[in-house]
Amino acid sequence: MLNPYVKAAGPYRVNQVPCPHFQMMVDLQAPRAVVMHTTEGSSIEGAESVFHHHFAPHFTLGKDAHGAVRIDQHVPIGFIGAALEAHNDLAIVQIEVVGFSKEQLWFFDDATADALAHLMVVLESDYGVPLTRPWKTGDWGRAGYQNPHRSSKMFGAVAGYFDHGDIPNNCHWDCGNLDWDKLFARANAIKGGKPATPPAGAPLVLDGETVSPKQMAVAKQIASFFTGKKLPTGEIFNAMHAAGFVANAWGETRLQPFLWGDNRVAYGLWQLHTNGVNDRLDRACKALGFPTPRPPVGSHTQTNDLTLDQYLEVAWKDLSEPELGHARSIAATTTANDAGVAICALWERAGAHGAAERRGKWAEQWLEALK
Ligand SMILES: [Zn+2]
Repeated sequence: MLNPYVKAAGPYRVNQVPCPHFQMMVDLQAPRAVVMHTTEGSSIEGAESVFHHHFAPHFTLGKDAHGAVRIDQHVPIGFIGAALEAHNDLAIVQIEVVGFSKEQLWFFDDATADALAHLMVVLESDYGVPLTRPWKTGDWGRAGYQNPHRSSKMFGAVAGYFDHGDIPNNCHWDCGNLDWDKLFARANAIKGGKPATPPAGAPLVLDGETVSPKQMAVAKQIASFFTGKKLPTGEIFNAMHAAGFVANAWGETRLQPFLWGDNRVAYGLWQLHTNGVNDRLDRACKALGFPTPRPPVGSHTQTNDLTLDQYLEVAWKDLSEPELGHARSIAATTTANDAGVAICALWERAGAHGAAERRGKWAEQWLEALK
């Protein structure tokens, strides 16, 4: 049974502030979707003064006139909220968040984001709304009745988070260019960094980012390459280590095999460096008899791209010869998390703050997904 009232969201009490609403039920057979809005005002009182008369959503969330964050529920879940011009019946929940939408990438203040992320965790666990969205951050619906999101037919067909700018037969564009990745990451962090067990066949989602079938195919190829691979000194990599390599390729390039990065001095899945005294890419390619890939120059395209198989052989050459000491330390790890961290710290030597920790967490999720 659907509980019509949310009592609390983590440390936040949810206040019952009933407003008039239509005596009409949502379509409970529709994929579970939340529609988010911004109030285009600076306090919860300002927004609610309107909702007491009409157009009340299920929740209003944000700062009150004294700057304290509050979550108020106006409409019982199961009944339609009325914040849309059309299709209110396809949103199990609508949330008005206090704030102003922007065309530039924007995000809520910290206190508002925290309350909202806690509410989203409850909406996932109790009402089945996944922490996903059909579009990437930066790809947002525009003002007016016509935009690619409205015509995409996603709303009503796909579960997850939408905003006013995504809904057909509506013209408002809130929440604008909101940083959804940040919001989903925050909700996932509240859950302990782990998404709820996805149903069988559901795509893998890492910090709110859905892994595409193409990326999954690359991940599988990496995993099968590393699993059971033996170092010259005898240590053998297993599925946990393989997941660590996949997590690092996800972190470096989102599993794009032939990407030139770092101002065109780093190549492929793990961004092997090819400049200066330690030209790891060139050394391994020469040892294997592959022409060394070269970056795009001016209007010329990159040359000598390796196949994915060749790239994996090059990485292996690097690991089993110049990097053997580090490879042995990686092989000595006993969890996917530790493998992901060790590969980042010892082999990738990625500089970004927190990178190793993140890749450790991803490695655990990849291990599950690749089983
Ligand atoms: Zn709206």
